[in-house]
Amino acid sequence: MLAAVLKGPRALQVSAVRDPAPRADEVLVRVAAAGICGTDYRIWTGERLVQYPLIPGHEFIGDVAAVGPNVARLSVGDRVAVEPNWGCGACDLCRDGHANLCLGRTAVGIDRDGGFAELAVLPERACWSAPAGLAPDVLLFAEPLAVVTRAVGRAAPQPGQTAAVVGAGTLGLLALQLLRARGCRVLVVGRTERRLDLARELGADATVTGAGSTIADAARRLSGRDGVDLVVETAGTAEAVELCLGQVGVVRPGGRVVLTGLPHAPSRIDFFWIVRREIDVRGSMIYGDEFGEAITLLADGVVRVGSLLTHRYPLSEIGAALEAHRDPAAIKVAVFPDEGAR
Ligand SMILES: [Zn+2]
Ligand SMILES: [Zn+2]
Repeated sequence: MLAAVLKGPRALQVSAVRDPAPRADEVLVRVAAAGICGTDYRIWTGERLVQYPLIPGHEFIGDVAAVGPNVARLSVGDRVAVEPNWGCGACDLCRDGHANLCLGRTAVGIDRDGGFAELAVLPERACWSAPAGLAPDVLLFAEPLAVVTRAVGRAAPQPGQTAAVVGAGTLGLLALQLLRARGCRVLVVGRTERRLDLARELGADATVTGAGSTIADAARRLSGRDGVDLVVETAGTAEAVELCLGQVGVVRPGGRVVLTGLPHAPSRIDFFWIVRREIDVRGSMIYGDEFGEAITLLADGVVRVGSLLTHRYPLSEIGAALEAHRDPAAIKVAVFPDEGAR
């Protein structure tokens, strides 16, 4: 098969390697589409260290090409979305139902070979059967939508409430739609007009860019009170975290802030305002049991993703695809291993 093998920072080579073979409880998946996210970019640059060589890629979907003898639920030809994280199953966190927090967690495309390849081997339990008619371009969003489904769940929105989504990338534009579906009016905070245009097309009641005070004013205008009821942070930058929790006050006193973008740089937060306003701050780490719900949301058309897939590449051009991830015009970039060079 053809695979993109990472041999060191920025040393990614598309070459022919031996086809992987499924073990007894594993499934061989022919990859139809694999999305690129910030984690893949950081693995590629070496900011996130992994054991080389590695085939990266954790947001992918495909069709079952072969099954091991103990596989009971899936058959050859089934379309599947891959849930690329699972816990050790034995620790206290896993036993408590918090496998997303397990310290011995396995992440496909990070701890074992992933989806930037024509074929990938996964345990059966990591493969979610999807409706056969669901297009790869749509199903591809199952993984990021599972992240967002958890984050929005942890925000516990009530119909009629107001929300702000910070960040207008893939996660933010999915969170917007899910919050709308839950009956909220939503303000989207972004950095480029192009993305904010898209946010309005996808149902945002208001959009804003600019300084913290401008954003807080927009939150007050939308809510008609001292800030929105809840904030979902998806950008993962120090600046975004500071906006959500700082003195400027995007969220109302007594409101809730859910952080799901992984901030890799430290933030400067004045905790006085969190206490004074009794802000409920929650982290949200990947997903627990939200994966199936995310697939249903896509299949039912509750969340629309047609405009989010902005760049598509054949596997042979994965280098260009990774570069495109940082293009301000890019929202979701993906490779399609079964499509030839353009
Ligand atoms: Zn990701
Ligand atoms: Zn565990």
